[in-house]
Amino acid sequence: MFLLLCLVGLLARGDAQDRAALWRGNDRSGRCQYTFTVASPTEASCPQTGSPEVEGLKARLSLLETLVSRLPGGTPQDGGRSQSRLQEELTRAMGERNLLQGEKERLERELGGLQRRLEETQREMERLRNKPCPPQTPMVPPRPGGSNPMSHLLAHPNRQGDSSGLRDSTWQSGHAGFQEVKAEVTEVPAPEAYTGCGVLVSVAEPVTHRKAESIAGKYGVWMQDPEAVAPYGQEMVWRIDTIGSDVKQMFGYEDMDQLSRGFPSKVLLLPEPMESTGAALYRGSLYYQRRRSRTLIRFDLASESVAARRDLPHAGFHGQFPYSWGGYTDIDLSVDEQGLWAIYSTSKAKGAIVLSQLDPHSLEVKKSWETNFRKNSVANAFMICGRLYTVASYTAPNTTVNYMYDTETSQGTALAIPFRNKYRYNSMIDYNPAQKKLYAWDNFHMISYGLRLGRPVGA
Ligand code: CA
Repeated sequence: MFLLLCLVGLLARGDAQDRAALWRGNDRSGRCQYTFTVASPTEASCPQTGSPEVEGLKARLSLLETLVSRLPGGTPQDGGRSQSRLQEELTRAMGERNLLQGEKERLERELGGLQRRLEETQREMERLRNKPCPPQTPMVPPRPGGSNPMSHLLAHPNRQGDSSGLRDSTWQSGHAGFQEVKAEVTEVPAPEAYTGCGVLVSVAEPVTHRKAESIAGKYGVWMQDPEAVAPYGQEMVWRIDTIGSDVKQMFGYEDMDQLSRGFPSKVLLLPEPMESTGAALYRGSLYYQRRRSRTLIRFDLASESVAARRDLPHAGFHGQFPYSWGGYTDIDLSVDEQGLWAIYSTSKAKGAIVLSQLDPHSLEVKKSWETNFRKNSVANAFMICGRLYTVASYTAPNTTVNYMYDTETSQGTALAIPFRNKYRYNSMIDYNPAQKKLYAWDNFHMISYGLRLGRPVGA
């Protein structure tokens, strides 16, 4: 384009050689350049109109035009396309940069929290060190010649039953205190096979179905409708990558196999952006929390439109009462054999988990329960048969389902059911009552866990 302008300029000069002329054009850097020309006193140095030089220039100009049009992106249309591609790339790169920036800030906050917890633990250790041990029947015999002040803490196998640290022969010599503890751990009655609506007995090793392709999939939610309705069948798998501030795309896969291959057959666009990884699918609708609000939306998959919307009364949102990993997971929706539930907290509950059963049609709260278990102390929660379960850690590879709350009795119970975070960053865990499995999103990976349910006491 620059060459063309220069050559046109030269031609114009040739035509106006016999009088003063002002010519304007862009220079190489895009600035406007003015050229003022007057006739030379030496006639011989001025080429005449239609001279061989001008004809030669015209011929070279048309040759250059031909060459320029053959260059990739040489025509104005191609130039426009290439520019819009560059613009798209730039927007994408800036989007990823913003995502990473957000992630960095979140990790910094998390680091701050961990440092505070470390300090608290150190203070607690200091307090324990200074506390005299009761003289009667110690739990663990003193190690020969050793005086580790923390040995009384190491006596207990941890919650995962990992006793690999107990290698000292003295510790395994059959001391009465230790055997007592061991008996408590192992004397769990063997669960009977039970296929009804039961209590959680154990969680199997996770099975990996798919790894997300981009940074947008570090966290997310994936699900199958336990009571699917037309036009989508029960095999259909849905997935939403939830990193970013404008989460609206929902990908549908024909079945688990297509999810594993990464070939979506349907992309739905949500009318309003989503927050959290707490979305749930039930009877042909996606239920989710609208970004930066306590508004719940029921999005009908068949008509691809909003079927209901309602505020969840007093619910904290956008980082007020998230799970321990953050991610604005203030409102977690869950589906079980008894219907649709919301797991959240309120200012009145001071961060303790509040549980509400929702009318799946209107989103109205049918009934609520307030637990005494802090929401930000757990990694995630899910419902099975009207019972709430929480997972202790989202990063520890071997953690536990550590608490259960029964809505029938309004009673909470501490548990220690082993649970594995294979990829060490579990951002979503939910139960599918049709598959009797937990679906989870662990550090880019869409995984599921087989479950063993047992007969409830008195059933
Ligand atoms: Ca959940």
